[in-house]
Amino acid sequence: VRRGVLALALLACSREPAPSRVPPPVATAPAPGSPRSCLAHPVGSEPAVRCWVEWLAAPALAGRAPGTPGGETARAGIEAVLRDLSLDPAGDRDTYTQALPRGASVLAQVVGRDPARSDEVVVVGAHYDHLGGEHLGADDNASGVAVLLELARALAKDPPARSVLIAAFDAEEPPAYRTPAMGSQRWVDFPTLPRAQVVAMLAMDLMGGNLWPGERTPLYVMGRETLVADGAPPLAGDGLTVEAMHLRLVEDLPSGRQAFSDHGAFFAAKIPVLFFSTGRSPHYHRITDTPDTLDHPKLAAEVAVVEAHLRWLADLPARPAWRADPPVLAADAAALARMLAAGARGSAELRGLASEVVRADLARMRALSAVAPETPLDEAAAREVIAASLRAQCLLVPDDEVPTAACLVL
Ligand SMILES: [Zn+2]
Repeated sequence: VRRGVLALALLACSREPAPSRVPPPVATAPAPGSPRSCLAHPVGSEPAVRCWVEWLAAPALAGRAPGTPGGETARAGIEAVLRDLSLDPAGDRDTYTQALPRGASVLAQVVGRDPARSDEVVVVGAHYDHLGGEHLGADDNASGVAVLLELARALAKDPPARSVLIAAFDAEEPPAYRTPAMGSQRWVDFPTLPRAQVVAMLAMDLMGGNLWPGERTPLYVMGRETLVADGAPPLAGDGLTVEAMHLRLVEDLPSGRQAFSDHGAFFAAKIPVLFFSTGRSPHYHRITDTPDTLDHPKLAAEVAVVEAHLRWLADLPARPAWRADPPVLAADAAALARMLAAGARGSAELRGLASEVVRADLARMRALSAVAPETPLDEAAAREVIAASLRAQCLLVPDDEVPTAACLVL
């Protein structure tokens, strides 16, 4: 796919000017390959999400590092699209941007249709920056921005009761990660609308991958435990498996709690969060994270799942409440058991002690989940599930930097 795009770009550059007899077009249609051309595809469709990913992860944008020309091209393109959708500016001083020490986040607002609730806001965000250079970041996180822009299109046509802040955050990746210079942290520290009006935050990061080759792994919805509200949407998508998982299974590291994306700053401010991700594929932070390695049908199917969660929160009669100390559930052990089983099938090189550990963890997770899914686990069992989850992520997701022995002591 990349070679095809390159060939087209070369063709376009080498083409002679059109003969003068052809009259200039009256309306200026967006050029193919420009972000606005993606708006020609049906909302939430596979061609639409593919179009956003191929634009953002094109070699021309050079991996979108904050403050670079490629990052600026991405910022300008996202802003142009949000303007085309007639969304209100929601950045600093009536602009669409919030400046950062390096780079700028893009912010627009869909005004809620219920005057009684339109002061309240659901934030939906995805970071558009990546590492830069040869790292093009298709899954990380052109995929999340693709879903974000499709949500913006759907909401612009049919706004929910509450307002929605569309946030394309900059500077999520290192070195800004978990510092005041991170785009999402900056917004929480210097919000462009009163922070007390934010009822919930949805983050999307790594949305188009599969954890193991040959396995269609789920979309994980983490953080539903952080909010108290009725009528959660079903965990199902069109041809897509969706799993709920407690954030602690991913974030409770031996060194302390650590959020892996833009929801972290909001969570720390006690705002309910949902974190959508397909997890780290084998291409994570490698130069092979290119558009052709993404599961585009899965990515397209995710739009409806995230939209259902967003509309649920934006249309609730009463604003959802923050839950301070939610328990890990038997359902979390069950979700982990399914991940371990798929990982054991998908990880060809898993052998020796590592394979025994995975088998033992799988058996234990099945035992813990042999009760009603909503059963809360006691803290000792919760810690077992969290430790097994960390081992699974360490052992089953290939990473040259982490030796197997280091995973086994988790
Ligand atoms: Zn990311």
